[in-house]
Amino acid sequence: MVRREPSVAVRPIQHARKVSLDQPISRDRAEFIGRAQACTRCLEYSFKKVSVKPAPDSQQKELHTLWIVRRICGICEHESELGLDPEGDVVYLG
Ligand SMILES: [Zn+2]
Repeated sequence: MVRREPSVAVRPIQHARKVSLDQPISRDRAEFIGRAQACTRCLEYSFKKVSVKPAPDSQQKELHTLWIVRRICGICEHESELGLDPEGDVVYLG
């Protein structure tokens, strides 16, 4: 006869509320982060146009960039671009 431990005792405790980092950020989230970075010229946060597109394959591999956000400043009309990685961190800003 095989002895078994009660299954309840060996089941690990699950912390179900933990946010998974495996989930890449959405396009909406990328746009939100893009708007949260000041204009690189006048340092204002008012953009008249923000566009988000997926990074090309080469950039995804080399820089670990997932999204490219292009912004046109509503104050000085300077166009700037930033790259975001899948976790929403800014890879470059220029
Ligand atoms: Zn500006």
